[in-house]
Formats: sequence, C-alpha cells, structure tokens
Amino acid sequence: MREKAFIREVGPRDGIQMVKTILSTERKLEWMRKEAAAGVKRFEATSFVPAKVVPQFHDAAEVAQGALTIPGIEPAVLVPNLKGAQRAFDVGVPKVNYVLSASEMHNQSNVRRSTDESIEDFRRIIAERDARGLKGKVEIGAGIATSFGCTIQGPVPEKRVVEIASLLVEAGAQEVSLADTVGYGNPAQIRRLFAAVTKVVGNVPLAAHFHDTRGLGIANVTAAVDVGIRRFDASLAGLGGCPFAPGATGNIDTEDTAFLLESLGFDTGIDIEKLIAVRQEVETWLPGERFFGMVARAGLPKTYRDTTAAAA
Ligand code: ZN
Repeated sequence: MREKAFIREVGPRDGIQMVKTILSTERKLEWMRKEAAAGVKRFEATSFVPAKVVPQFHDAAEVAQGALTIPGIEPAVLVPNLKGAQRAFDVGVPKVNYVLSASEMHNQSNVRRSTDESIEDFRRIIAERDARGLKGKVEIGAGIATSFGCTIQGPVPEKRVVEIASLLVEAGAQEVSLADTVGYGNPAQIRRLFAAVTKVVGNVPLAAHFHDTRGLGIANVTAAVDVGIRRFDASLAGLGGCPFAPGATGNIDTEDTAFLLESLGFDTGIDIEKLIAVRQEVETWLPGERFFGMVARAGLPKTYRDTTAAAA
C-alpha cells in the first residue's frame, strides 16, 4: 500500500477571494461536489471574514452549511478572528482554520492587530469552542501566514515563526500550517523551517500552504515532502491571491501537486483526469481569470501509471 498524502482544495476560499466574478452559492457547492467526485476529500470551503472586506464570502454560512451535505468530504472554513469562529461554530463545521501572520506588518494590514494579540484571540477561540461543548467535535487548526517572508515587512525571522508555532500548539492548535503567502520561499528555506517547527509541535501535524508566485511552488512541495510533510493546500488551476499582499499570485496548482505527489509514489486518492475536467468547467464560470498549471495544459504522460506503480 502506498503512503497517503493529503491535498486540501482551497480554491473555494483562497482561489476566489480576488477574482472579479462573485460565484453563486450553488456554483461554489457544485465545484466542491465535482472535485469530491474526482477524489478530493479535504476542502477549505469558505472564509468567515466580513462581507465588506471580501464580498465573495457574503454567503459563507450558506456555503459551509451546503458543504456539510456533500458526502465523504471534510470541509474546513477559514476564520480570521473570534467573531468568525463564532459564526463557524454556529454552522457546525467540523474543522476551523484560524490564520494569523508571522509578519507584524502583514498582520496589522490583515486584521489590524499585533501577532501577539492574534495569538491571544486564538486562545479565546479555543476557549469558546470548549465552552460550547464542542471539544472533540470541532478540530481547530492554525495557519501562520508570511512564514517565509512578507511583501510589506520583508524578512520574517525564522525564530519568530518557530515561537509562534509553539505558542499555537500550547494554546490547543490541532494542526499547524506554515504559509508562504506571497511566494517568497525556496526549497532550502522550506526544509530548514519545517524541520525546526517539527521539533516544537510534538504530535500535532504540520501542513504546507504555498503560493507559486515565483515558480518555486512545486519545488517547495518536494522540499516539504523530504522533511516529512504530507498535508498540502492547493487550488484548482492555481487560482488565488491575498488582498493584502501586493503582487501575490495563485496557490500551487491542485492538478500539478497531485501529479507530483502521485509520481513520488504517494496515494492522494485523486483522479487527475477527472480533476482536469472539473477545472475546464470552473474556467467557464470565471471569465477573464488566469488559469495556471502545467498538467492540465500538457496532459498526463503515457508513462504516468507505470511510474506511480513502480514507485508503489
Ligand atoms: Zn494563501
């Protein structure tokens, strides 16, 4: 049996927060249903940010509720603060991903508070969940944005990222994700920082959230795999961006990431050809957006099944 690797589709969240088209609730759900049929099981379905900040997510509660009815998937939602978490708890999603920034300046632009204040907020979120009797029912993960550098602040000290990861785990995070929000990371940095953070998180799984802004996204996945990471966020067609990170482009592409992981011998559960068909349909819903990704353009190689079989 091949070792499993997990791709969380963040297209319906990160992927569409910057696009011009506001997708209907039904389209967002259809997207997830179709990807689920292609074997994708984990989704970041939406974001509980105020609709005046990101209008795309005005229907976050409806999307989250709808995602709960899709058989066989594990929907998560993103929350930037306690208020967002309360809305997510009200809906009853099984997984909530909180995000803060290791870069003080990025955190200030994003949520108008210091990173330490955001860590405090995370503690309040955990307390709120437990007070509602949802411990053991709702998993709470924490993502550290700009872990590899920031467009506003520039360098982000690695020591600070390790410290934040450790504080989040101490506060009760059940997954920690290191995010290269603006695509500054390189493979050497990825290996070094994930290895350092691994030492402080104990049994709490680490995940990677990469953007392919400068073409190193897939190389960075390989580097993370090398140091034991098996959970990756990716976005269909490499859609994505960050409203507060000027110049940021898309997430790593789901099809290419699945192709890489499968080629390395991992079982992602994803049927890449079916995934490409979903992408072609989603492309018709988002006119004028740039769709990235190499496998969708070139198709799978004829040797694909042989190499994955040999790797297994
Ligand atoms: Zn992102």
